[in-house]
Amino acid sequence: MLRGQADIRHPRRVRYLRRIDQVAQLSEEERRRLRPVCERYAFRANDYYLNLINWADPKDPIRRLVIPSEDELEEWGKLDVSHEADYTVAPGVQHKYPHTVLILATMTCAAYCRYCFRKRLFMPDSEETAVDFSEGIEYIARHPEVQNVLLSGGDPLVLSTGRLEALIARLRAIDHVGVIRIGSKVPSFNPLRLLDDRALFTMFARYSTPRKRIYLMSHFTHPRELTTPAIEVVHRLLRAGVIIANQTPLLAGINDDPDVLGELWLRLSEIGATPYYLFVNRPTAGNAPFRVPLTRGYQLFQESLTRVSGLGRRLRYTMSHATGKVEIIGVDDHRIYIRYHRAAKPENAGRFLAFHRDDQAYWLDDLVPVKEIDARRGNGRAHRLARG
Ligand code: SF4
Repeated sequence: MLRGQADIRHPRRVRYLRRIDQVAQLSEEERRRLRPVCERYAFRANDYYLNLINWADPKDPIRRLVIPSEDELEEWGKLDVSHEADYTVAPGVQHKYPHTVLILATMTCAAYCRYCFRKRLFMPDSEETAVDFSEGIEYIARHPEVQNVLLSGGDPLVLSTGRLEALIARLRAIDHVGVIRIGSKVPSFNPLRLLDDRALFTMFARYSTPRKRIYLMSHFTHPRELTTPAIEVVHRLLRAGVIIANQTPLLAGINDDPDVLGELWLRLSEIGATPYYLFVNRPTAGNAPFRVPLTRGYQLFQESLTRVSGLGRRLRYTMSHATGKVEIIGVDDHRIYIRYHRAAKPENAGRFLAFHRDDQAYWLDDLVPVKEIDARRGNGRAHRLARG
């Protein structure tokens, strides 16, 4: 049982570690072997999060999430799988779907997930994040179709509250922007940073209004991240009027277990962080150790749902593909069925597609289509097939 493992002692001041040599729990030999990995893909951790690791277990999921492994050096995937560069309209500003603009507000996180899909941002010559937000704000102001803005990165909650407030205040001044979303793993990686900052919650209460809410897209990946301070952060965010929805990538060796996932959905529902997306982890360079085939992922997802009641079952198993947000809605003996949940091209909106089943496929590009079925032409039969 995973419950109760979260209540451990935490340091009062969180110390950041930027070099693998600073991780005292690793042997000198381990640190030596991991140096080349950290030279290719940046390492960052903090002692709050390292404290969650069971160091006696070499396969500990929290360890796997943040401590590099040599398997990352396997040649696999690309740095920008979802072609985010194609949708970049200004430095650090992406406009892929008509109603949504994404701002990469920073190139830092409170720690670095080894499976990160934007690890290119942490590389020395990256210039993809917005240093000055003015260009993005002006772009959004000129585009009245933009209803919601997603702040991401990196992690916007590593910005100072003053800087974050300046950005949110300018977005709130644009009449057509309703929802502001903030994607953050700080509630998992370093909730103490948030609990120490009363001004942050005051700021959220000011700008998350009854008519226009701020959403915090949390990134809890494993039930052991739901520590007492993390739960307190969720509580204070909710009290400040922030709505919380959780996004979790499916990761081999971390949460690819229906009991772990079911426990996560249950506990997130209990604390008010709605399970929203279970993401197919992108085939990003360095992510080979975390890959889960689509068919196995779908089976794990379905099995995890049997552990929870209605509120825990609202999430979708989805991938952020270059062409849109694609939901995997069914797998049978011969086929895999997907539907575009969001589409970059309007003609793909809601499109339903069937592919030959391939148990070694990890991404949409690996699949071979059977035929396309347009969901908008009354294909109730196709939906029944997909469900089962
Ligand atoms: S919090 Fe997000 S952006 Fe930061 S390292 Fe993890 S996956 Fe990447």
